[in-house]
Amino acid sequence: MLAAAGGAALAFGWTIRWRPGRLRRRGPPPLGVGEVLDLLRQAYSATAGWGVGGAVGHLETGTQEMDPDRRRRGAALVQLASVDGRLHVVRDPEATFVAVGDFPYAAGLALPGARHPTTVIDEIAGALRRFVAGMRVAEEENAVSRARIVAGRVSRLVAGAVTLEGIARAAVELGEQLTHRAVALVVTTGDRAQIMAVSAAADRRLSGLELSPESPVAHAIATGLPVATRGPEDLFGLGVPGRRRSERAGIAYPLLDGDIVVGALVLLGPPLGPDVAALEDLGALLTDLGPRLAALRAVHDAERRAVVDPLTGLRNRRELERAMAAYGPRASEPATLVYVDLDHFKRLNDTLGHPAGDAALRHVARLLETAVRDGDLVARIGGEEFAVWLPGTPLREGMEVADRIRRSVAEKPLTWTGTVYPLTTSCGLACYPQPIGDLLNLPAAADAALYRAKQGGRNRVERA
Ligand code: GH3
Ligand code: MG
Ligand code: MG
Repeated sequence: MLAAAGGAALAFGWTIRWRPGRLRRRGPPPLGVGEVLDLLRQAYSATAGWGVGGAVGHLETGTQEMDPDRRRRGAALVQLASVDGRLHVVRDPEATFVAVGDFPYAAGLALPGARHPTTVIDEIAGALRRFVAGMRVAEEENAVSRARIVAGRVSRLVAGAVTLEGIARAAVELGEQLTHRAVALVVTTGDRAQIMAVSAAADRRLSGLELSPESPVAHAIATGLPVATRGPEDLFGLGVPGRRRSERAGIAYPLLDGDIVVGALVLLGPPLGPDVAALEDLGALLTDLGPRLAALRAVHDAERRAVVDPLTGLRNRRELERAMAAYGPRASEPATLVYVDLDHFKRLNDTLGHPAGDAALRHVARLLETAVRDGDLVARIGGEEFAVWLPGTPLREGMEVADRIRRSVAEKPLTWTGTVYPLTTSCGLACYPQPIGDLLNLPAAADAALYRAKQGGRNRVERA
């Protein structure tokens, strides 16, 4: 009778545990697995009870008064049952131990005295089996509901994130919450793999880092299999010097969209413990993230292709035109347009080869970017022609910027496979509204000025 009550409480306790709303209406307080075990113990007038497995870990009830040897014996028997899944009945002069298991769960009771009829032992074994089954069901429900909770949290975070950067930031923060590890998210685009976001606890310097193909994370991406490192090996390769040893190790989980690897979620620091819940939460995040990342990456790539020059990563001519048009034909603020053309670039291609020419274009692109402020726009508008759009900048300041560009290129030659190759540029500048009164005429005026700079001997700035 009491046993039946215990069994019912067990089932009831576990189902209502995850439905607090129903719990309040129905009245009875939720029973934890420990309380149910204690009910079983009382139902069969047992001295002590044990339970093991999963998130439950190790439970004991009524063992305080027990002889330590007998206490250890009961615990060991239950442990054994959790592994071999069999019914164990062990008698000594003062107690009878009954234990049943179903890997990785098990439960057992210690009954006082050695003489118990088989029917009673069978009944107890049955009750223990139901208890063990209840543990498994509860834990699975627990896992399912946790997965649902995590998926819900990912969806909510992602709903607010319409960009690849947004979802990347959301994912690393959630990953850190779930695992208590610093987290980084790597996204692949083309043949590159780049760290797109790092969580609050991670080393900021990792952000934006491009991974070498030899790094363990790149390996996880290439093979689609998780890769873990220990000791001094840096998961990200040799990208960032002086990182703390404890943070270099970790585990990289590839993120999949179907069969395609779209990136990796990287947990930094020591391996996760046997915390089943954290691993399941992480699993839910990993499963959810791949396809969402893939979808946003496709949008991101398409948008990027439309506005960015693939060789240098600078904006393209269309973007320059869009930015200038957005300034409005009758803007009240001044603005300056500078055309920058590499001098004798054909010669470089002819002597060092086309790849060296490409490297020079990328080199100059970086110099141009460093020469301007945020809000200015640097574009590659032709083969070896660049444009710098300086909104809000009058003539005198524009001349300063142009000369800074000219000097910086002249002072920082290209180094190509050991050869130092000097580069110079000619610049043509046009400024609105003085002297060019119409924004639409700026490009032609800058072009004419550039022509004069070439005529005047190159490595110089001319203005319209
Ligand atoms: P100038 O001083 O008069 O500007 O001489 P230049 O040689 O720079 O000018 P020109 O217009 O005669 O030649 C431009 C060269 O730029 C032609 C082409 O070989 C090279 N070029 C154009 N686009 C690319 C590119 O994407 N990569 C490389 N490597 N070279 C390019
Ligand atoms: Mg040129
Ligand atoms: Mg040219």
